[in-house]
Amino acid sequence: MAAIAGPEETTGPRPGDDSDVPAPRLTVIGTGYLGATHAICMADLGFDVLGVDVDESKIKRLNEGEVPFFEPGLPELLAKAMDSGRLRFTTSFEEAAEFGDVHFICVGTPQQEGSDAADLRYVDSAVTALAQHLCRRTLVVGKSTVPVGTAARLTELVQRLAPAGDQVELAWNPEFLREGYAVDDTLRPDRLVFGVSSAWAEERLRAAFAPIVATGTPVVVTDLTTAELVKVAANSFLATKISYINAMAEVCEATGGDVRGLAEALAYDDRIGGRFLKPGLGFGGGCLPKDIRAFAHRAEELGVGQAVAFLREVDAINKRRRSRTVDLVRELAGVTGGDLTGVRVAALGAAFKPNSDDIRDAPALDVASALHRLGAHVTVVDPQATENARRVHPELDYGTDAISAAIDADVVVLLTEWAQFQEIDPEIMGSVVAHRRIVDGRDALDAARWRAVGWEYRALGRP
Ligand code: NAD
Repeated sequence: MAAIAGPEETTGPRPGDDSDVPAPRLTVIGTGYLGATHAICMADLGFDVLGVDVDESKIKRLNEGEVPFFEPGLPELLAKAMDSGRLRFTTSFEEAAEFGDVHFICVGTPQQEGSDAADLRYVDSAVTALAQHLCRRTLVVGKSTVPVGTAARLTELVQRLAPAGDQVELAWNPEFLREGYAVDDTLRPDRLVFGVSSAWAEERLRAAFAPIVATGTPVVVTDLTTAELVKVAANSFLATKISYINAMAEVCEATGGDVRGLAEALAYDDRIGGRFLKPGLGFGGGCLPKDIRAFAHRAEELGVGQAVAFLREVDAINKRRRSRTVDLVRELAGVTGGDLTGVRVAALGAAFKPNSDDIRDAPALDVASALHRLGAHVTVVDPQATENARRVHPELDYGTDAISAAIDADVVVLLTEWAQFQEIDPEIMGSVVAHRRIVDGRDALDAARWRAVGWEYRALGRP
């Protein structure tokens, strides 16, 4: 094991900056959607970066210049970063500890099986594996979304295990990137949040983000606890806004109102704003659903469950949109009971949102598999997520494009608002289906255009 060295960084001038202060060498531990993006973008900004994962096949693909998931713009940046010689990937934590001055923890924090709590085993195991090799003054920076209190616990863990002891500091730097826009969000974030325990940690983080800070990006410096809370508070707010308009959709359904007009009228009020106020099938993915559940769970553990009890309702409203979409398909198919045997459904979309191949907690797949369970013959089509969907739902049929998936369909249901689905010509699709019936689960189509050529059109919260 290497001897404990001094605090100085090991590489040349800081990227994006003329100062003589050397740039920190970075490691990024966990190379999934967040970590791979972070590693590639930081190398693009000029840092020397080592990506680390326990998944050998993922590391092999990344080292061969292949991004193991769909993210627009990322493959090009990976190629550029590999050519520059500033980026490589490994499975060795020993190598990572020797290489890095600042280590970003980007591993998954999924929902625990059988509980709403976050599963922290990957974070604990990554931090444990790294800490054992940390022999000099270093900063370990959590980026994963974690329950409040995790950073304090990990500080104790890392300092107990590291040969460098309390020379190793922990910081939290929550990540707000959106899949589909991950490159831009990483290179040009709205803000950076630095949760730190010392001026040294803040200075290290400022060095690690120097090119981004230099563009005038706001930096909020705070304590570890607040930094952890910022992320779950932000996701809770976004989820609440989506469920709020979907709750209004439920009221519209009961009263004959039109939630699209209602949302439009609300959006003109600057205090409310139109973003995330779009009615439809609701949120899914690897973040929002598990983050609001973990937040509610953690608040209950801390005795402040009441403060965020509304998140349980936000979750319930969101889930009800999925079953309501199934009901709309049933209504259009003219089926009164539960049984959809013999009904052919073309399901447009599998990913949890457009521009992503991520199917974690995807509303689209939830609806498709519910229809299948009711007896329907479901053909799913998605521009990027088919392979991921097939792995989890082999019982469904998969098409290659929307028109061929719709051949002989009794009902078409739009579940993910990919641009190519919004551009479908209703006349062309109408010429292949058995019945011109469409459920617009994302309120993304021009109802008048579809109705004009004889389609029965239904959408959530609309007459
Ligand atoms: P992911 O499942 O795509 O990636 C996690 C990666 O961690 C995988 O490659 C896995 O092999 C690796 N891993 C697991 N255990 C490891 C270990 N012990 N050592 C090294 N690597 C290990 O997950 P993700 O979507 O990238 O999310 C990661 C974290 O970032 C989560 O906490 C998530 O909530 C948060 N986050 C995600 C996004 C997003 O858009 N995906 C945005 C903001 C925050």
